[in-house]
Order: sequence, then structure tokens, then C-alpha cells
Amino acid sequence: MLPFIRSDLAQFTAYKAHPGSDTAEPVAAKLDRLDTNESPYDLPPELKEKLAWTYQQVIETNRYPDGGHENLKQAIAEYVNESAGLTNPVFTSANISIGNGSDELIRSLLIATCLGGEGTVLTANPTFSMYAIVAQTLGIPVVTVGRDKNSFEIDLKAAQSAIEQTQNPPIRTVFVVHPNSPTANSLTATELAWLRNLPEEILVVIDEAYFEFSQNTLVGELEHHTNWVIMRTFSKAFRLAALRVGYCIGHPGAIATLEKIRLPYNIPSFSLTGAVLALQNRQLLLATIPQILSERDQLIATLSSNPALDISPSSTNFIYLRLKPNNTYPQDTALKSLHQQLRSQGTLIRLLNDALRITIGTPDENIRTIKNIQTALANLGGTN
Ligand SMILES: *Cc1c(COP(=O)(O)O)cnc(C)c1O
Repeated sequence: MLPFIRSDLAQFTAYKAHPGSDTAEPVAAKLDRLDTNESPYDLPPELKEKLAWTYQQVIETNRYPDGGHENLKQAIAEYVNESAGLTNPVFTSANISIGNGSDELIRSLLIATCLGGEGTVLTANPTFSMYAIVAQTLGIPVVTVGRDKNSFEIDLKAAQSAIEQTQNPPIRTVFVVHPNSPTANSLTATELAWLRNLPEEILVVIDEAYFEFSQNTLVGELEHHTNWVIMRTFSKAFRLAALRVGYCIGHPGAIATLEKIRLPYNIPSFSLTGAVLALQNRQLLLATIPQILSERDQLIATLSSNPALDISPSSTNFIYLRLKPNNTYPQDTALKSLHQQLRSQGTLIRLLNDALRITIGTPDENIRTIKNIQTALANLGGTN
């Protein structure tokens, strides 16, 4: 390694958007891309036209973007109030900070809490990998605890003891996803009770990336917990993954700190415009959700009838699939083989340590998923 590089970075490899694919090339659009939990639907043409018009007529590419994000923050605050069913609005732009995707917010939150030897991060695996990845690139230690094998509830005993043991540095930030990726389950009453009781020196980050699918939000509780923040994104239900916009909702003090940390022009003008347009047209954009959810239920029902598969309930737009133990083939090689076979049949899904994660696609894509899984399982010899 080059002698000027921080020594602890030697052990990392660059993030791969599509792990399991052998090349760095973008995934061919002809594949069913069901490995990153995006919406299967592009923006409707009329919105793309509006966006293109704004790009041509309004955005001056020689000028820096609006560095304060005020319009978008106000639109987000209104949506957040609405999404929590709050009739007298509680949230204003002082409660919102906007990131270049939630990924940037994860980094800013870690800079704000743990950097410089001030804190350790706690996560419960399996969960979103970016929390640990970003922490490690900042030299921040990560403690992980497990989850129940069936309900995927966090091992709260282990989590509590990790907090009580004098770690050096102490646990300062806890990341949870609601509902969790990749396991698709929402936080339970017991987990919530634990989060509510965490001391105010610990930041609780609740990632609601899939809120629009679960319709289950904790923003109504933010007022009572100055040490909670909620993250959301435009990358999933709002169909704007290409534009990279995420936001954090929290106490004005926490938000002011995030604003200090972020780079001045972190969101391009085009993305600011796209996100505002998406919120203005939220009814149109979110109208695809009931269909995606019913497709999900159908996919779960159909796949569950195969005796080789163990499918977990899902509160979101993807499913978590394991193989039931059997004597015909070892689990991990079978999962790898399923993943590879589906890929060669044109369906890209996410391979995890002991499971597969499959995004809900269009009805046609889902039909192919079912067919391809059944063919692949038959090739393994495990269906009968
Ligand atoms: C997809 C996803 C996000 C979105 O990240 P962006 O950087 O906003 O695209 C955030 N959190 C979780 C858990 C996700 O699965």
C-alpha cells in the first residue's frame, strides 16, 4: 500500500453495488434487477418531462446549487407531518437535514457522535451493511449483536450488556432499521421499549428507508426523545435512486450539528428539483405501492408452498428467503447455486450469508422469479 495511506484502510475493499457479479460493469438493463430494493418503476413520463423542462429552462449549470436546501426541507417537513398523521404540524425545516443519499447522513451522524475515539457503534446483524462500512472507514469501532433466528428480533440481552460493559470508547450510536433489511421485519414492542429506555448520551438512529411500504413510522415519538433521529430516503418508494437524496428528521440541535458537518453543496440542483417534484406528486408516485405489496404477498404465498423454502413475513418491498435444512445438499453451496442459476436465467437477487433477499419487481418480473426459483430448486434435486 502507498506509504501515505492510513494503515487501517489496507484491510478494506471498495463497496460493490452488485456483490456476486464478477465485473465492475453496470448491470445490463435486460436483467431483472431485484438485488437492491429499488422500485421497479421509473418516473412517469410526464414527471420526467417536467424535470427535463426545469433542467433546460431554470437550472443554470454554471451556478452552484442552493446550499441551504430550504425549499426541499419545507416540502419534506410537510410530508413528514402528514406521514405521521399530525394535524397540527410539529416539524419544520429546522428538524430536517438533507444528505446525498442516506449514506452521507450515516457518515455525518458518525462524525457527529463517534469520531476521534469518542464512541463505538452498535448494530444487530444481519442489517444494512453501510453502518459498519462507513464506521470502519472513519476508524470507528463497531460492536455487533445477533438476532433471533426466526423472529429476527435483536438480541437485547447482548445489546444491553454491550452498553453496560465499559467499552472503550463507550457505545455512542445505535443503528436500527424499521423495517430491517435484509430480514424485512419491523421493530417489535419489546425492541421499541428498549430503545425508549436508552440513556440520552446514546444516539438512536432509526432508518425508515422502507416507511412508504410499511406505513409504520416512529416520527410521532421524536418529540419525546431528543436522542432519536429518523432517516428516510427518496431511493426506494419515491423512485429516485439515481438522484441520491436522503433526509434526517430530528431535534433542532442534532440537525444543526449535521448542517455544520455536511459539505456546502452536497445536493446537485437537478436532484433538489427532482425531490421537490416527487413530493409535489407524491400521490401519483406512491400509487404503485398497494400493487407492489399485493405482488409481494402473492410471491410469498406461491414460494411458501415449496417445501424446500422458508420465507419470512415481510413489511416491505423485498422478501428474505432461506432453505429448510435437508440432507440432499449443504445450505451454503445450495444458496450460491440458486443465486448463480437465477443470474444465468436473467434474475439478479442478493446473496447473503445464509439467505437470499429478493426485491419485489413488476408482475412480469415476479412471475419469472417464481419460475426461475422453481427451476433452480429442481436442478438442486431438493423439491421432492
Ligand atoms: C436502500 C437503503 C437506504 C437508502 O440509502 P440511500 O443512500 O438513500 O440510497 C438506506 N437505508 C437502508 C436500510 C436501505 O436499505
